[in-house]
Amino acid sequence: MKTIVLATNNAHKLQEIREMMKGYNLVSLQEIGFVGDIAETGTTMEANAKIKATTIAEFCKEKGLDYAVMADDSGLCVNALGGAPGVNSARYAGDHNDEANRQKLLEELSGRFDRMANYECVICYVDGSVVRTFVGRTYGEITTEKIGDESFCYDCLFYSADLKKTFGEASEEEKNAVSHRGRAVEKLKAYLREKNPNFDRTLVFNK
Ligand code: IMP
Repeated sequence: MKTIVLATNNAHKLQEIREMMKGYNLVSLQEIGFVGDIAETGTTMEANAKIKATTIAEFCKEKGLDYAVMADDSGLCVNALGGAPGVNSARYAGDHNDEANRQKLLEELSGRFDRMANYECVICYVDGSVVRTFVGRTYGEITTEKIGDESFCYDCLFYSADLKKTFGEASEEEKNAVSHRGRAVEKLKAYLREKNPNFDRTLVFNK
């Protein structure tokens, strides 16, 4: 089974995707010796996911590592804000400050009736010359105050239409089953199964 590099430095994403892709040979950026940041200069999540995945694919090629690469870019899109913060979710109120991002979101929506939002995730998968993207979305509303665990940015403000509670209140399994990342990962896994129909059997044999 081909080894896949998970091109993210975000510890939460790393943990979530590892959980969703149990049984796959996943390695982190740290494990392949990639240090440093990749400038996310794209104006869309798709462009940024492609920049991250192709940069790491190039790094692997230079090091002689025959690995596939997956990278995701994700964000929160709020209807009343014309889709913002969207591609700028991590830097909405400045530089990667979760609490400042949340406060800005609450202020922007203060007094607004329409609080509909969705998280979006674009995964880019690169294997040799093949470049594929997979999109996942999950829908809900922005609450008027923080509810639940505050460790992952907007999760304590995102009331999930599927779960009927905020992602901050949900267990990891509950969130992964309906999340934008979970849905994009399911599409990637379906593609990988299609490419290798014996995949599930290989897993059993390897146990
Ligand atoms: P990225 O690392 O450039 O993809 O930025 C993603 C940003 O979107 C994160 O830093 C968060 O602000 C936000 N985000 C994306 N997915 C989630 C999630 O599942 N929970 C909370 N915030 C998220």
